[in-house]
Amino acid sequence: MRLPDPALVVLVGASGSGKSTWAAERYRPQEVVSSDALRGVVGSGDHDLDASADAFAILEQVVAARLGRGLCTVVDTLGLDAVRRTGWLAAARSAGLPAVAVVLATPDAECRRRNAARDVPVPAPVLAGQLKRMRVAAEELAAEGWDVVVVDGSGAAAEGPPVPHTA
Ligand code: ATP
Repeated sequence: MRLPDPALVVLVGASGSGKSTWAAERYRPQEVVSSDALRGVVGSGDHDLDASADAFAILEQVVAARLGRGLCTVVDTLGLDAVRRTGWLAAARSAGLPAVAVVLATPDAECRRRNAARDVPVPAPVLAGQLKRMRVAAEELAAEGWDVVVVDGSGAAAEGPPVPHTA
């Protein structure tokens, strides 16, 4: 798969769909801005939901700073919040960067299996809500103006690295 680079890349997928794994296989750690990682920085750990507001405030600042410099930026959150997404899209447009939404289309059962195997699983009803929202995500993203790339989150490891943008 060839993605433009630099670009804004927003990951979209339920918990356990493989977003962080997909990003780690393709981008430098500094290019990936992760809400989980920032919860770990400002809270007691990646899953400290009480730290979400602080983590997202920092995430927004980091994304804006990187895009403002024209740097490749991968946003690793659930990606299901349309208000946040459209803010990032506008910032990418202002910076003249391509904006790509990468949808992790991992089968629901696989997300549930991976979630159940985790040390700190997401509650089942929460995951069910995320999976429901995923069913309309690709259509919403296209309507918002993203270049949408759908990847198979159960076999992402087989894909190659991004190729530099030459246009
Ligand atoms: P969250 O939103 O909860 O942070 P995520 O979408 O970022 O989840 P990951 O943390 O990347 O998901 O992956 C969840 C689990 O699934 C991990 O144990 C990871 O090793 C496994 N996994 C991810 N991608 C693949 C893959 N392509 N093949 C097999 N296992 C995978």
